[in-house]
Amino acid sequence: MNFFCKLFGHTWTHRTDNPRIAWNTTKNLSELAATSEREAKFWLECQRCGDKNENPSRDQVKSAI
Ligand SMILES: [Zn+2]
Repeated sequence: MNFFCKLFGHTWTHRTDNPRIAWNTTKNLSELAATSEREAKFWLECQRCGDKNENPSRDQVKSAI
């Protein structure tokens, strides 16, 4: 693990293998919802060390960039 990740925690970013994915706000505008024509692979990846979280919890997704 990267030194800074150890110190501050990972800096998660949203990643997907579907370039056509569209991020839309839901009706209550409090969270993002992904819409896509097919099931897209989605995961969180750390900006610093590249660590992957392929099965993030809802809270982890919300707190990611
Ligand atoms: Zn990291």
